[in-house]
Amino acid sequence: MGLNYAKRMDNIKASEIRELLKLTQQPEIISFAGGLPAPELFPVKQMAEVSKQVLEEVGSSALQYGPTEGYGPFREQIVKRMKKGQIETSKENILVTSGSQQGLDLTGMIFLNPGDVVLCESPSYLGALNAFKAYQPKFKEVSTDDDGMVMEDLEKILEETENVKFVYVIPDFQNPSGRTWSIERRKKLVELANKYNIAIIEDNPYGELRFEGEIPPAVKHYDTEGRVAYLGTFSKTFAPGMRLGWICAEGEFLQKYIFVKQGTDLQTSTVSQMQLAKYLEKYDLDEHIEKIKVVYKKRRDLMLNTMKSEFPEGVKFTYPEGGLFTWVILPEHINAKDLAKLAIEKKVAFVPGGSFFPNGGNENTLRLNYSNMDEERIVLGIKRLAECIKEML
Ligand code: PMP
Repeated sequence: MGLNYAKRMDNIKASEIRELLKLTQQPEIISFAGGLPAPELFPVKQMAEVSKQVLEEVGSSALQYGPTEGYGPFREQIVKRMKKGQIETSKENILVTSGSQQGLDLTGMIFLNPGDVVLCESPSYLGALNAFKAYQPKFKEVSTDDDGMVMEDLEKILEETENVKFVYVIPDFQNPSGRTWSIERRKKLVELANKYNIAIIEDNPYGELRFEGEIPPAVKHYDTEGRVAYLGTFSKTFAPGMRLGWICAEGEFLQKYIFVKQGTDLQTSTVSQMQLAKYLEKYDLDEHIEKIKVVYKKRRDLMLNTMKSEFPEGVKFTYPEGGLFTWVILPEHINAKDLAKLAIEKKVAFVPGGSFFPNGGNENTLRLNYSNMDEERIVLGIKRLAECIKEML
């Protein structure tokens, strides 16, 4: 039976990562594929305790509808966390979302007519590209280097292109490249957005997971005209199963998000917000993040060191100062999709890089996640992957 689906569905297919993640459910697979946090670090006991407390103390309001904007005390807690990126804001500028992924979808909803242009880093987060795709935009990829998006390239594109609605960026430990933008590029981005009157969508799920150096000011810190929407989340600092994220924006901009959120799901789960707010009140999330960072840093070091010693010459990779991913560039004639097939036979999974480029190409790249596997499996998996690369060379 062929039902008459909307035109927008023509571009929407199963994401490669989701398909891969199905495979990685098999316990014998060493998976560097997903962006999964280490489950052994989730604060399960504390969560059980605060959940019970919320239900016992304010159970009936926890189970009731709440405002679309979110639970007040939770939004206050979010305001405090925004200070890490040197963003001074207030609760009125915070909308709680079901993960930052919802913020991405709502962004497409408020900005994009079919054919409008989205600017993004090349490469960019696949989940964002897929969310935007539902609104039938065109993507223009802006080149990147170790300091982030190349501003000369951005300006050239802005000069030449009509109907650009927003630029989507992940300035801290980018997914998939693991790179972080320099402060100069952050300032310049805001300057160009002001000049060409476009919005900036700053997506920052990983910034707090910094293993070395200082957290730089967010792009939003330099926003003087209210054109930056900052998307935050507790998925990587607490637990993704909570599905709790937020959008920070001002005035009419935030109001548009609130309107479309109402139509989408009325509000984010009241009980989840109250439980996490209680956790944040009783416990120190920063202390918890320190514990996560110790484990991830060790895993990153181990992965990079093993890559250094095992990967053949001609294979390059990034050095992430935090976050969850490193990005590998193979010699040009090697296709990472073929490599992935070979690696799966050896029970190792990763995401081929091609799908992070909305306009295709770059098939000689891949993304590796180091947060989810224990140390023994990281070494074993990288050694096996090195064998596969050598075989293909
Ligand atoms: N943005 C980026 C860059 C991500 O990597 C992810 C998760 N992998 C998300 C948004 C969505 O995260 P969540 O919805 O869990 O907050």
